[in-house]
Amino acid sequence: MEKVNFYDLDISDLENVLSSIRVERYRTKQLWVDVYRNGKKSFDEISTLSNILRDNISGIISLKRLQVVDIKESDDGTQKILIMLDDGNFIESVLIPRGEYYAICVSSQVGCAMGCKFCCTGYHGFERNLTVGEIVGQYMIAKDLLCDWPVSKTLPKKVKNVVFMGMGEPLLNCENVIKAIKVLSNDSGLGVSQHRVTVSTCGIFNKIKCVSECLNVNLAISLHAANDVLRSKLMPINRKYPLDKLLSTCKEYCKNSGKIITFEYMLINDINDSINDAKELVKVLTGMRCKINLIAFNEWEKSGFTTPQKEKIKEFENVLKKKGYNVFVRYSSGKDINAACGQLKAKVYNGTLYRQKYKQFYSM
Ligand code: SF4
Repeated sequence: MEKVNFYDLDISDLENVLSSIRVERYRTKQLWVDVYRNGKKSFDEISTLSNILRDNISGIISLKRLQVVDIKESDDGTQKILIMLDDGNFIESVLIPRGEYYAICVSSQVGCAMGCKFCCTGYHGFERNLTVGEIVGQYMIAKDLLCDWPVSKTLPKKVKNVVFMGMGEPLLNCENVIKAIKVLSNDSGLGVSQHRVTVSTCGIFNKIKCVSECLNVNLAISLHAANDVLRSKLMPINRKYPLDKLLSTCKEYCKNSGKIITFEYMLINDINDSINDAKELVKVLTGMRCKINLIAFNEWEKSGFTTPQKEKIKEFENVLKKKGYNVFVRYSSGKDINAACGQLKAKVYNGTLYRQKYKQFYSM
């Protein structure tokens, strides 16, 4: 019988699985705490269970963590983690230092079907959605790498923020993303505050309500253009989910949730970085409770785009600031290791290249 992956389960699923082999109810919490608070990686490490119980449970549940096959560290401390999934696909997560703590940028899909023109992940297409366990597993890897165990109410957490800005469009894997966030934020386990989770979308507005009704997370919108013509060129999904409807959904979200929304705007040289583009952005965001992150485009081979000069970015920023917007210019972390926004591309290596390089893992 195929084992159930522990990290795919929420606490009530776990209770159901355990009750199917007649394990007492109180053991559910015990196991949950051992894995998610104490960081236990195998049943052998779980001393709160008798040998017989360990054997029984390990016969139906697997605690196997995701397989890290490579870690690249940037000069600025950012770490790009290459993970091989059980089916041989690869994804990347990025661990970003933020002063005293870290943020983990997680992937939600293998590749991405959205095809945004400036994005290396989109360039290489879509393979499949990640499972709940594969999403939660990325956070577990971050905690393991940083030796961030046990989880305690008094000790500060080293990995505090989780951002869904890695590979894939989270709202097209909505069900698994929501369940994974519920697992991450469960108070008896990892206890990640939902206020410290940000879900970023390229504009799948019909799913925004669904997320805001189930969770108390932050929302970020990848905007990148302030009119439909340019946005559809840069982000083909805009043809199906046009700007006016996206922005009206955002306004409604702010009103209902009381939250501020973040707009990500990647500045691409001579494409969307003129003063007129900035003025247009001001116009379409009028009345929106938001902050704006300006990100200088990170160049990658075959994109055909270039990074704007710093002076141009400053001019763009000034137009927004003069109109009273909260603007942050973000120079992405981990550029030297291709870990910056839009540069993740693990899928390109799916198949022969990585299979050869990591053949020891394939034979395990
Ligand atoms: S920017 Fe996001 S939504 Fe667009 S292709 Fe890249 S991963 Fe997909």
